[in-house]
Amino acid sequence: MSGPDAETQMQFLFALRSRGVTDSAVLEAMEAVDRGLFLRGFFSERAYEDVPLPIACGQTISQPSVVGLMTQALQLSPRDTVLEVGTGSGYQAAILAKLARRVYTVDRHAQLVREARQVFQKLRLANVTSIVGDGSHGMREQAPFDRIIVTAAAEDPPGPLLAQLKPGGIMVVPVGQSDAVQTLIRVRKTETGLEYDELRPVRFVPLLEGLGKDT
Ligand code: SAH
Repeated sequence: MSGPDAETQMQFLFALRSRGVTDSAVLEAMEAVDRGLFLRGFFSERAYEDVPLPIACGQTISQPSVVGLMTQALQLSPRDTVLEVGTGSGYQAAILAKLARRVYTVDRHAQLVREARQVFQKLRLANVTSIVGDGSHGMREQAPFDRIIVTAAAEDPPGPLLAQLKPGGIMVVPVGQSDAVQTLIRVRKTETGLEYDELRPVRFVPLLEGLGKDT
């Protein structure tokens, strides 16, 4: 529970930098948030390796360098309101909470939301609101958002999410067939339309419809 020792922390940050996470605010946020708190049992020993790991409900906590690259791609400002679809362990949401004004995060598994909330409380992250629901429809009551991050793979960027993005807003989403390698896409909403940027290949669990069985 005491976090990584200094050498482990240094190696963790070195791995992030060598995989392209160079934004100093993002690196600081990742230094401040102990990934070990978001893992249980056996897997928490591997918290500082740059690998995805299993969490409850058959889901995964993303690879730290992918979390860093996605966060970096969002180009967050401290004034931003962010929507995350796919709370999972809550790790990505905690990083976002260090960099944005307000974070809304939604997951279709109630158990994951419950466990993530406990970690947010432990870390005293008062600016994260976590909700159980199908995030592919976004969050109409809280919209529009400055930034949206989807941490599950969709076949296309979901229309309701694009609609809930402010003009000037940015959405980052893995796009592709569920089990294959997907492409991480950045969408910018401009005054005249949507601009798409392909960032890199990634592999995420699929964005599914409806609520999880435990819910
Ligand atoms: N961001 C997470 C990793 C997410 S794994 C982390 O930092 O740990 C992907 C998550 O997306 C899973 O928890 C899964 O339950 C969730 N998910 C899949 N489809 C969803 C949907 N339609 N709405 C909300 N969450 C969804």
